[in-house]
Amino acid sequence: MFVIKNSEQVALMKIAGRITAEALLVAEEAIRPGISTKEIDAKIHRYIIKSGATPTFLGYGGFPGSACISLNSEVIHGIPSDKKIVSEGDIVKIDVGARYRGYTGDSARTFAVGKVSDEALKLISVTEKSFFEAMKFAKAGFRIGDIGSAVENFVISNGFTVVRAYTGHGVGAELHEDPEIPNFGKPGRGVRLYSGMTLAVEPMVNAGVCDVKVLRDKWTVVTADGRLSAHYENSIAITDGDPIILTDINVG
Ligand code: MG
Ligand code: MG
Repeated sequence: MFVIKNSEQVALMKIAGRITAEALLVAEEAIRPGISTKEIDAKIHRYIIKSGATPTFLGYGGFPGSACISLNSEVIHGIPSDKKIVSEGDIVKIDVGARYRGYTGDSARTFAVGKVSDEALKLISVTEKSFFEAMKFAKAGFRIGDIGSAVENFVISNGFTVVRAYTGHGVGAELHEDPEIPNFGKPGRGVRLYSGMTLAVEPMVNAGVCDVKVLRDKWTVVTADGRLSAHYENSIAITDGDPIILTDINVG
């Protein structure tokens, strides 16, 4: 069952969300050819702790990093490693959450390293725009299926596919709360949205097939065909009007 947050809880989520967004900025500034994903993770970790929060992902289900850092054909859940070195032309997905006084943010971005392919640029742009297509339906009275179909239709119309095996989710005291928010669906179907719901909406978009697989490290999800994948996520609060983007540097 999903949880409705009161205004005090949403206020705490704004602070958690702001720190989460700032951690992504720290990562963006750190990303350059030659840096390891472990070094990026260390900078994120330091920033979150310095801000009086804790890294939600660290130890979650046994995850060994403060952020999931996924390169190129890696979709999500990449483990920071000193053996993974960022190169010119890569796309880097950073997914991170900061917990503040019991509430967590959850947000992801895809960054281009130097000059990347036209396909990579389009993939990053379409993924971000699909999130904002979904926001048109992220208000009280619409349903989860309206969000999913908005993402899916926009992505498909641009020649890409949505990952179906992983979804967005409610977020709050727990990193993953009900309801699930697939990046596909039928308009008018699924759980109804109410003011005070807090949700992580996160299109995961593949350049090729939608199929994914999990590597032997049991975490890293990769595209089945080895082509690129992009990710864009914000935590939001549902209202009777436009949603509040909680993972925003100007919000809390
Ligand atoms: Mg996330
Ligand atoms: Mg999430």
